[in-house]
Amino acid sequence: MEKNNICSGCRACEAICPKECIKINVSGRKEFTKIIKKEECINCHLCERVCPHTAHIDLKEPLKGFNAYALRSSVIRRSSSGGIASSMYEYCMENSITGIGVLFDGNFNLNYTAIKNEKQMRKAAGSKYVYSDMNGMHSLVASKLCNGEKILFIGLPCHVAGLLNYCRLKNVDTENLITVDLVCHGVVMPIYFTEHLRKVVGLQMDTDFEGNILFRAKRNPYGLTVTNKSAVIYDKSRCEDEYMKMYIAGMCAKSCCQCRFAQMDRIGDITIKDRSTPCEKRKDYRVANQSSVLINSLKGMKLWDCLREGKIKAEEYGVKDIVSEDERLQFPSPMLNKYDWFGKIEKYFGHSMAVNILWYLSGIVQNCRKKKRR
Ligand SMILES: Cc1cc2nc3c(=O)[nH]c(=O)nc-3n(C[C@H](O)[C@H](O)[C@H](O)COP(=O)(O)OP(=O)(O)OC[C@H]3O[C@@H](n4cnc5c(N)ncnc54)[C@H](O)[C@@H]3O)c2cc1C
Ligand code: SF4
Ligand code: SF4
Ligand code: SF4
Repeated sequence: MEKNNICSGCRACEAICPKECIKINVSGRKEFTKIIKKEECINCHLCERVCPHTAHIDLKEPLKGFNAYALRSSVIRRSSSGGIASSMYEYCMENSITGIGVLFDGNFNLNYTAIKNEKQMRKAAGSKYVYSDMNGMHSLVASKLCNGEKILFIGLPCHVAGLLNYCRLKNVDTENLITVDLVCHGVVMPIYFTEHLRKVVGLQMDTDFEGNILFRAKRNPYGLTVTNKSAVIYDKSRCEDEYMKMYIAGMCAKSCCQCRFAQMDRIGDITIKDRSTPCEKRKDYRVANQSSVLINSLKGMKLWDCLREGKIKAEEYGVKDIVSEDERLQFPSPMLNKYDWFGKIEKYFGHSMAVNILWYLSGIVQNCRKKKRR
């Protein structure tokens, strides 16, 4: 039985529970919640021992740091920063390794999926600032590893940790598993994204949807762009789109504000993040479209060396410099418990007004923090 009340919806406990008596509710407006059928629970504590927020985790001190980008410009164009994740999927496809990333399904849920072809690889590219669902990946990864297959899992740190804990508790040998964690600012409760999409583009349970949802389109960074059959059907900047305003204002789930992965030592064999670029250099396409990368294990180093042979260009950059350039490698998103008062304002004045008040207040808070730093 779980005693902690921090949950980021990684579903590792659901996957490991021998009695299948635990369910995670991801559709709340404030936090992810666990529902346990107490009468069926046998107190085996596996759910605590697998949970990324309560179990012991083996974090690794980074060995080396790099700034890097994909050599293929088409990869960079559709990627968020340097296209390192996409280059890894390319490498996987060429070397019979199963690469795992996230794709939107027909109901606009973002699910981890085994990337099988170029089309899926293109759709996985780009950061999607929404909750991603492990979608049965724990058992799939474990069974593939047991069959001797090689796997590359790229995902959020809490998802990587839950997967590694699951494999350890199931006694699965992870020698053939390489994990890559993305430095993570946090996610907004998914209900807000679904409601927003339905409102602004009228998207409903459309299983034939052949488009994509972009949060980092090159001409609309951190805005929201929705395409369908190559036509742009929604395109709003970060100052106009209500969902991205919530994300940028820091409406992160409660678990994200207490995230134990927001630090220098890492859970994955490799860590990828956006390269922090000073304002005056952002117009330089070559510099702005780069990733910073931490190599955290010898397994990670081996893959990195293979990528450097023709897929990416990398230049060594200090681990300490990379860490000092991003607060999410130092401490979690500030805890303001916004969901409580946001819910109250939303109830009385409506969602749009609540978002505008949040956006306005977050601007004031950010300015104060900037002044304090100076
Ligand atoms: C929610 C979130 C918050 C982030 N916060 C920060 C931050 O604060 N600072 C920072 O420097 N970088 C952050 N990143 C990472 C950064 O935005 C890039 O994802 C990273 O640099 C990889 O870029 P790329 O060009 O190599 O990847 P691409 O080639 O663009 O591929 C994108 C990769 O990200 C995966 N992905 C996209 N969205 C999700 C998701 N929601 N859940 C799981 N996997 C996903 C895809 O499957 C793919 O592997 C965040 C990413 C996400 C998803
Ligand atoms: S203690 Fe064991 S049986 Fe009970 S919910 Fe957790 S994993 Fe399931
Ligand atoms: S974070 Fe994952 S393992 Fe922990 S309670 Fe939530 S779903 Fe379960
Ligand atoms: S901030 Fe931490 S808890 Fe939240 S999604 Fe990212 S890794 Fe998971």
